[in-house]
Amino acid sequence: MITEAQAEQHIKELLEYIGEDPNRTGLQQTPERMLRMFKEMFRGYDESQKPVITTFPNGQDGIIYDNMVVDAGTFYSVCEHHCRTFFGEYWFAYLPNPKGRILGLSKISRVVDYCSSRLQVQERLVHDVVEMLTEALGSENPPLGMALMMRGRHMCKESRGAKKTGVMTTTCLTGTFRSNPQTRNEFLSYIDKL
Ligand SMILES: [Zn+2]
Repeated sequence: MITEAQAEQHIKELLEYIGEDPNRTGLQQTPERMLRMFKEMFRGYDESQKPVITTFPNGQDGIIYDNMVVDAGTFYSVCEHHCRTFFGEYWFAYLPNPKGRILGLSKISRVVDYCSSRLQVQERLVHDVVEMLTEALGSENPPLGMALMMRGRHMCKESRGAKKTGVMTTTCLTGTFRSNPQTRNEFLSYIDKL
């Protein structure tokens, strides 16, 4: 296990490597600040910060909900190839099992946040989120399907290297979203309107 003092020392060395003087006034607190920021940005490695995903039995509110539920929001993550930010929007949908459970809506964005707070590639990020939400709904009467689409701008492509703007889109589809084009198209039609 690396100590905080050792980590600070490494950051100082990196600052020196880029041609800086880590001891000048403006940079004296920088290693410490960066470590604090890392704790927040990379909390996705800390199991104790894993969001508790509330679910409710379908039908609890007097109605068995078997239509599509769609949620959308934003995400911020860090690419594992360059340690640069990638960020954008996500759209999530699922079809609850009439005999299963439904998700507390705010939990979806919390799971997106948690899985984003690690070094990631966008292809794995969609998968991680869907896996965690599927697991939360239990295997006894699992949801009939889940869909997640993420569109991200990657700073490693825009601010360096290729220096081209553009978004990357990744999807993870399970169950009926994968097998039934009609369900998939319904999901995609919501994205155009959101
Ligand atoms: Zn990258």
